[in-house]
Amino acid sequence: MTNELTSAFKSSLRGQLVLRNDANYDEVRKVYNGMIDKRPAMIAKCADVQDVITSVNFARENNMLLAIRGGGHNAGGLGIADDALVIDLSLMKSIKIDTTSKTIRVQGGCLLKEMDAATHEVGMTVPAGIFGSTGVAGLTLGGGLGYMTRQYGLSIDNLLETEVVLANGNLVKASANENSDLFWALRGGGGNFGVVVSFVFKMQPAHTVYGGPMLWDISDTKEMLTWYHDFISTAPDNVYGFFATLTVPPEAPFPEHLQLKKMCGIVWCYTGDMDEAEEVFKPIRAVKTPALDFVGAIPVPALQTLFDGLYPPGYLWYWKADFVKELNEKAIDVHVKYGEELPTPLSSMHMYPVNGFAGRVGKNDTAWNYRDANYAVVIVGIDTDPINKDKIINWAREYWDAHHPYSAGGAYINFMMDEGEDRIKATYGDNYERLATIKAKYDPNNLFRVNQNIKPRMAQAGALA
Ligand SMILES: Cc1cc2nc3c(=O)[nH]c(=O)nc-3n(C[C@H](O)[C@H](O)[C@H](O)COP(=O)(O)OP(=O)(O)OC[C@H]3O[C@@H](n4cnc5c(N)ncnc54)[C@H](O)[C@@H]3O)c2cc1C
Repeated sequence: MTNELTSAFKSSLRGQLVLRNDANYDEVRKVYNGMIDKRPAMIAKCADVQDVITSVNFARENNMLLAIRGGGHNAGGLGIADDALVIDLSLMKSIKIDTTSKTIRVQGGCLLKEMDAATHEVGMTVPAGIFGSTGVAGLTLGGGLGYMTRQYGLSIDNLLETEVVLANGNLVKASANENSDLFWALRGGGGNFGVVVSFVFKMQPAHTVYGGPMLWDISDTKEMLTWYHDFISTAPDNVYGFFATLTVPPEAPFPEHLQLKKMCGIVWCYTGDMDEAEEVFKPIRAVKTPALDFVGAIPVPALQTLFDGLYPPGYLWYWKADFVKELNEKAIDVHVKYGEELPTPLSSMHMYPVNGFAGRVGKNDTAWNYRDANYAVVIVGIDTDPINKDKIINWAREYWDAHHPYSAGGAYINFMMDEGEDRIKATYGDNYERLATIKAKYDPNNLFRVNQNIKPRMAQAGALA
C-alpha cells in the first residue's frame, strides 16, 4: 500500500483513520476480550454512512482483508484482524425513537446500554443481551439472546429493517418488503452480508421488571438444575431465568460469608404484572431457600447492566458453546462436576433458555436455525492474568468435550471462537445452503469474511455487479 493511496483514503474520510504508527493505535485496536491481540493495518473510525461506503470500496479495490467492529465484544475477536482494514462504527451512535409506531432506529455503533437508556425513557425495551457494553450490531446479527427471549423473542424477532452497505459499495435497505432474501440472512447470519449501518426494531413494553440473581450452594447444582429444567420448560413466557455456576465476587453487595464461594444460581426476569410478582416467586423460593436472594423490582436498564462492573474490558475470555434440546441426568452430572471445578473466580457456565416466544418462530423463518433447542449453553474460562490462560482454556475444553455428546450439534455463533466450517454448518443446519446462495448474490468474492464465515455458493447466478 503506497503512502499516497493511504493519505488519499485518510483525507476522503470525515472520521479518523488510525494507522500503525499513530500514538493511539494500541488503544484503538483493543477489543473487549484481552485474549485477542490483533494488529490491523488501519482502523477507519467512520463518522457516517459515506465513510463506510468509502472504506468498503477502498478495501475491495486494494484487495485488503476487511473487518467490521460494532461494539468489539465478539467472543473470538472477530471485529478486528491482523493486517486488515477495520471499519469501526463506534462514532456512529445516532438513536431515533418513534413513539407512534413504537419503533427505534439505531446506528451500527450503538451499545446495548445506549439503546436501553433511550427506550427506557418511553417505558419500552428492545429484546437484547444481558451486558450493556455489548454492541447492538454484532449481537443482533448473530440472533440476540437475553432476558426478554421467552416473552418477546430474540433481537432478530423484533428487527423490522436494516440499511446495509454491500460489498459493491451500494447502500440498500433490507426488510420483509425490500431485499427480503438479504433480510432473512441478516437475521442470524452474522456479519457475512455487508456492513449494517442502521437497525430499526419494534419496541416492547417493559419498564420495571422483577429480577436479579438467586444463588444456592454449588453442592445443590444437581437438585436445582433438575428442578430448573422442569420448571422453565413449561413456565409462562413472562418468567425468564438463566441458570449459572459461578463464584461469588469478593466485594459488596455480596455478603462476606459467601464471597469467593462457588455457587449455582438463576438470574431471573419476570415481565408480568408487578403486583403479582411476589406470588409468582413464592413457589420458586419454596423449592429450596436461596443462600442469596437479590430478586426484586428493578428497572430494565439496571438489570441489563447488572454484571458490567464485574467484567470490565480487557479480561481474558475463552469461550465454548452448545445448543441443547433435552437436559438429561448425564448432562446435569457434567455441569455438577465442572461447576465444582471452576478454574478461576471469574469463570462461569451460563445456560440461557431459548424457548417460549423465540422457540415458536419457525426454524426457516430466519437464518437462526435452533428454534427447537431449549438452551444455549456457554462455558467461559475467564481471568485477569495471562499466567492462567492455559488453566481456563483447558477447563473450558474439557468441560465442553464432556458436555458436547448431550448437545444438539451446533452452537450460538455469538458464543463461538474459531471452531471451523463444520461447526458453522452444524449451527445453521438446513439454512446453510440458502445462506451460502444469498452470500454468493451479495458478496460473491467473500469480502466480508472476518466472521463465522459462510462461503459463497459459487454456482449461484445473478451475483450483484
Ligand atoms: C460480556 C459479554 C456478554 C455477552 N452477552 C450476550 C448476551 O446476553 N446475549 C447474546 O446474544 N450475546 C451476548 N454476547 C455475545 C455477543 O452477542 C457477541 O460477542 C457479539 O458478536 C458482540 O457484538 P459486537 O458488535 O459487540 O461485536 P464486534 O466484535 O464488534 O463484532 C462481532 C461480529 O459482528 C460483525 N459485525 C459487527 N458490527 C457489524 C455491522 N454493523 N455490520 C455487519 N457486521 C457487523 C463483525 O463482522 C464480527 O464478525 C456477549 C458477549 C460478551 C463479551
